Amino acid sequence: MTERAGVAIIGAGLAGCLLACYLARRGERVTLYERRADPRLTGAERGRSINLALSERGLDALRRIGLDGKVLADALPMRGRMIHGFEGGLDFQPYSACGDRAINSISRGALNNVLLDAAQALPGVEVRFEHRLVRLDPATARLWFDTPAGEVRAGAEVVLGTDGAGSAVRGDLLRHRCTTERLDFLDYGYKELTIPAVAGEFALDPRALHIWPRGRSMMIALPNPDRSFTCTLFWPNSGMRSFASLGSPAAIERYFGEQYPDVVPLLRDLVAEYQQNPVGLLGTVHCAPWQAHGRVGLLGDAAHAIVPFYGQGANCAFEDVVVLDRCLDRAGGDWVEALPLFERGRRADTEAIAEMALANFVEMRDKVASPVFKLARRIEHALERALPGRYVSRYELVSFSTTPYSEVRRRVRTQHRVLAAAGLAVTLGAAGAVSPLWRHR
Ligand code: FAD
Repeated sequence: MTERAGVAIIGAGLAGCLLACYLARRGERVTLYERRADPRLTGAERGRSINLALSERGLDALRRIGLDGKVLADALPMRGRMIHGFEGGLDFQPYSACGDRAINSISRGALNNVLLDAAQALPGVEVRFEHRLVRLDPATARLWFDTPAGEVRAGAEVVLGTDGAGSAVRGDLLRHRCTTERLDFLDYGYKELTIPAVAGEFALDPRALHIWPRGRSMMIALPNPDRSFTCTLFWPNSGMRSFASLGSPAAIERYFGEQYPDVVPLLRDLVAEYQQNPVGLLGTVHCAPWQAHGRVGLLGDAAHAIVPFYGQGANCAFEDVVVLDRCLDRAGGDWVEALPLFERGRRADTEAIAEMALANFVEMRDKVASPVFKLARRIEHALERALPGRYVSRYELVSFSTTPYSEVRRRVRTQHRVLAAAGLAVTLGAAGAVSPLWRHR
């Protein structure tokens, strides 16, 4: 049995470790509890995405504590989308108007390890692995953990839940009627496959995020430092052409041959991986409020998990940490004031990115291959070059800036309204110029 006051962070994943670093810098005593064994000794847990795209918001949070360089050392910059057509044709679409901005493919495990090392190196931070939170009393901040040595109890002044989409902290807030939640699951799931290196080299261009848009479904691939690619299938869970409908080796090979013919020769263990790898859930967590009694709070996926189609879940979780740090500054370190302040300032932004992430699924799986979409992107990039700083695309604002997500949504709507009005004016002007001719006919 152990007792330690200070701040208890539940979950030493991406948000929890970064949060520990930020709080330790403020002079807080932090105990980080993690259900897994130390991943630096046992390797990363399977069943989560192997790599993820880190962009400006995440990098900004790392930069503020001097960790960006270390994380970026192993990153693979992806400057655009490489669209794979049915016939194997390729179309590269840069992310930014200038063509040189990139999102970064990072190993989730390596990123988590850098953050764990950084947190553990700070005075005042203690990490306890193999401590699974099983019960929390929100009013007293008493904690109960399941460990290999049996039940362990602890206490804290403040408890912060960064324990992911299936948060146990959120579960206990619910049980004590301190919060409400709504889980919106998609009818889609995800499964990962591997494209190994070919003769020690990348089998596809590593400078792009690869997409096989197929209307109702899609596959994407991100490069890894070992020169492999991790492919992720985003398919319907049930019905025709779904995870449920495909089981036998022959059916798997036939379907991949039809849908992704260019990549079949590269997926060396296709059937075995397809049959063995799990199908992950995809959904959005809506929960309110995110805090109780000014002493228990939720951050990251525990508060607002989103679907991964904008590559923003981890970026948003990192940004949460920066925003909470600012709230603590404003509240003079008083948690009772800071936690509600954080929620008031942050909720509109997390709702905005949740909505934009869902909309981006349709764009990625369907629209990116259409000639109309491609033309619209070219016009958008031309406008960005012609009106620097005045017209900025949604992708640019989400991925390459720290403009609050809710402001991104507002700004993009205004830009689209102005463009539509300008388009209408041009059309009417052209019609006005043409109509006399019609009259003379
Ligand atoms: P997590 O990373 O889930 O960490 C939670 C931690 O809490 C874990 O270590 C877990 O073991 C621990 N824990 C859980 N329960 C307990 C308990 N009871 N007691 C103690 N510890 C516990 N985001 C991006 O920014 N870019 C991307 O490209 C991207 N791609 C993605 C692709 C896929 C397929 C998926 C599913 C997600 C993707 N995301 C991406 C989202 C990103 O993974 C999450 O938003 C991010 O991991 C959230 O971090 P977190 O620390 O809040 O939660």
